[in-house]
Amino acid sequence: MLLRVARRIEDDADTFAALDSLNCGKPIRLARRDDVSATIDCWRFFAGAVRNQHGQIAGEYVPDHTSMVRRDAIGVVASIAPWNYPLMMMAWKLAPALAGGNTVVFKPSEQTPLSAMRLARILAEDLPDGVVNVIAGRGQTVGTQLINHPGIDMISLTGDVATGRKVLDAAARTVKRTHLELGGKAPVLVFDDADLAAVVAGLRTWSFYNAGQDCTAACRVYAQRGIHDRLVADLSAAAASITLAEADDTRNEIGPLISQRQRDRVASFVNRARELDHVEITAGGEAMAQGFYYRPTVVAGARHEDEIVRREVFGPVVSITAFDTEEQALSWANDSDYGLSSSVWTGDVGRAMTLAARLRYGCTWINSHFLLANEMPHGGLKQSGYGKDLSCASLEDYTVLRHVMVKHG
Ligand code: NAD
Repeated sequence: MLLRVARRIEDDADTFAALDSLNCGKPIRLARRDDVSATIDCWRFFAGAVRNQHGQIAGEYVPDHTSMVRRDAIGVVASIAPWNYPLMMMAWKLAPALAGGNTVVFKPSEQTPLSAMRLARILAEDLPDGVVNVIAGRGQTVGTQLINHPGIDMISLTGDVATGRKVLDAAARTVKRTHLELGGKAPVLVFDDADLAAVVAGLRTWSFYNAGQDCTAACRVYAQRGIHDRLVADLSAAAASITLAEADDTRNEIGPLISQRQRDRVASFVNRARELDHVEITAGGEAMAQGFYYRPTVVAGARHEDEIVRREVFGPVVSITAFDTEEQALSWANDSDYGLSSSVWTGDVGRAMTLAARLRYGCTWINSHFLLANEMPHGGLKQSGYGKDLSCASLEDYTVLRHVMVKHG
């Protein structure tokens, strides 16, 4: 059934790309190439993964009794999604939950319900009645009802830390399982021996992708003193070269922000940073006249304790902070409420491996950033939440391990 859903999305790929593009403002070319392709692959991955699960071997751990383990469904999962990758987040939540044998009540973000409604029609045709239920509505009304409902066995949320806390409060009352993918503020450690051109090309893409509305966005750069000034200059020029707000959407590299409220929120972060004497806005720093566009922005000279370095902006804004020693960079990187993703840019493999072991993040990229694979786990530490999306680890999160013991004779 999961394979059939993948094929139906593939058959309808252009429509799904158009819906997410219209609903979020994301460039149609990227919606088709990235979001829809990754979505199809996600459904296919879990269709295969469920056929290849591993566990402890059966055996006689008590004399005259054979023990074995099973992985079974948890029950009814309430899945609540954000607006930044509507169709893809739906796949991340539905595919492992359904593969695990659960039924799901899925709530898309109130800002981006269109692709979920389209997929709901397909799921209604291809899955047994009631296996997937899609309900639309706001978090405070429909979402609150859903997470407090006694018939729900597990709540899976991708969203804000504040929403995560509400989920935990609701779950505590009825002891529901929870799976939380919350915010991020990814540190990017750039050492003097890094390939500057590769860093700039990487950050040009991965700091501003989806207009920075991504919990893994490469937004908190720490640059070693020797490379710092060149990085500020080159990244600022690269940010200014990003194509956006063109009438021909096929040319756009990033879209607008999701709403006027989000654009104003991003602008207020940058404006508060601008007021600091030690900060210089070296690219962008302003909204555009039309739509909810905000120019790709580089905030240079930011200090580790500044708000712009510490809080999640969720917009096309990168801060750059100079550091001297590896130890300083590591301690600043780890000094965060968030723990989702991080990257290290260096020509020294030993240093990269040491830092990968010591960074307190769910993911560390070396000389790269942002790339995900359906085979690999994605999820955070600290206030970024817990539980994994993607990979066999996600299938484990959406199932429960059970022990069956058989008495001989
Ligand atoms: P949000 O928390 O406002 O909304 C997310 C979802 O939760 C929406 O469907 C919303 O309706 C629902 N919701 C809101 N309040 C609720 C409540 N009281 N009860 C039940 N449901 C409620 O977040 P957002 O603004 O849509 O998304 C942006 C946030 O999501 C950012 O903080 C971002 O970092 C995070 N995010 C994290 C990941 C990840 O994998 N860790 C991925 C994407 C987005």
